[in-house]
Amino acid sequence: DHGLSEADPEVRSIIDKEKERQFKSLELIASENFTSRAVMEAVGSCLTNKYSEGLPGKRYYGGNEYIDELETLCQQRALEAFQVDGKKWGVNVQPLSGSPANFEVYTAILKPHDRLMGLDLPHGGHLSHGFMTPKRRVSGTSIYFESMPYRLDESTGLVDYDMLEKTAILFRPKLIIAGASAYPRDFDYPRMRKIADAVGAFLMMDMAHISGLVAASVVANPFEYCDIVTTTTHKSLRGPRGGMIFFKKDPVLGVDLESAINNAVFPGLQGGPHNHTIGGLAVCLKHAKSPEFKAYQNKVVSNCRALASRLTELGYKLVSGGSDNHLVLVDLRPLGIDGARAEKILDLASITLNKNSVPGDKSALVPGGIRIGSPAMTTRGFSEKEFVAIADFIHEGVQITLEAKRLVSGSKLQDFMKFVASPDFSLMDKVSD
Ligand code: PLP
Repeated sequence: DHGLSEADPEVRSIIDKEKERQFKSLELIASENFTSRAVMEAVGSCLTNKYSEGLPGKRYYGGNEYIDELETLCQQRALEAFQVDGKKWGVNVQPLSGSPANFEVYTAILKPHDRLMGLDLPHGGHLSHGFMTPKRRVSGTSIYFESMPYRLDESTGLVDYDMLEKTAILFRPKLIIAGASAYPRDFDYPRMRKIADAVGAFLMMDMAHISGLVAASVVANPFEYCDIVTTTTHKSLRGPRGGMIFFKKDPVLGVDLESAINNAVFPGLQGGPHNHTIGGLAVCLKHAKSPEFKAYQNKVVSNCRALASRLTELGYKLVSGGSDNHLVLVDLRPLGIDGARAEKILDLASITLNKNSVPGDKSALVPGGIRIGSPAMTTRGFSEKEFVAIADFIHEGVQITLEAKRLVSGSKLQDFMKFVASPDFSLMDKVSD
């Protein structure tokens, strides 16, 4: 049996190039992080060879004594890491990632075409919270369920809870989803609980982005108010790519969440668990209980605040005016440029972040903002001083984008760009047809 360099130099070389890219760039994508060597060792282990459909002690394959030990350990650590009482809460650590975890919850507690409400994607929500456009049901979560997204109050950049309440009373959803991919503030769980109770809905929090911050208690705790909490494991939590679903053990609205969710994961939507991921997750969750992890998450937040206040000093408009967590959302529209062009220019300088829609945007392809996150560079040891420098670098990149726009204006290139953006040359329509 050969190692990768001998067996497949082509793939080895792609991995090496990617490793160099990761280490040479300023990694500011809010959903990314650098996991530990210990996690990677577990993920790259023989655990990948084993089939173990079912749950510990109840498998459909033999030879699972060690896998049972591993999955039980992972479950225990998950409950401990989030300080939830194992008598009241259970967890399934098998979801393959965040989107499958969410879909598994929906199939567990809803019937096809039951109603759900999540934060609209252009306002910071995730695809898997029921995303649809006026023309198209984009996500499976809006194809198989009836979705009525709630939105932000555009004047404050905060969730419009009053409107959510009014809409929920009319729409009568069976599920309300808290959580986001691009929301720099905490959710008001007590308020959402009240709304869910008023309409007889389940309340779920998708804490994918902030699960590390929740484990370290540096943001509000969703477990006190929600019936179900889902998460990815590879963002602020710093684990391998995967997902988890936490559920209350006592029945909620007459539903036994434990069996409904476990059955939705397997056999409902998945087959064999990815045991190598569960191994890596167990390692990550051990770390999540340590004082160093809490110190790291505190730094993620203080670094993000330093970034936000320097950007504000430089005159940038931040959605909601700042950040309580690991990300800021910069509205570039007042400068007359968009996030797509800024992302490209910054990429040329090895500053990796992503274009993002901001409330009021017309186009998701050319959105007006950029999203900047602090978890990855905090893992690499950056502190507030370096995050202030990052704000200055981004400012320089934005100035270059503005200059590029000035140079293009009046040139033939601009006529071409107008043509590309025109309905005569609608690339998206051609591709999607
Ligand atoms: N939920 C939220 C809030 C997310 O931000 C994401 C991914 O960015 C997901 C779910 C989906 O996770 P995955 O990409 O692992 O399916």
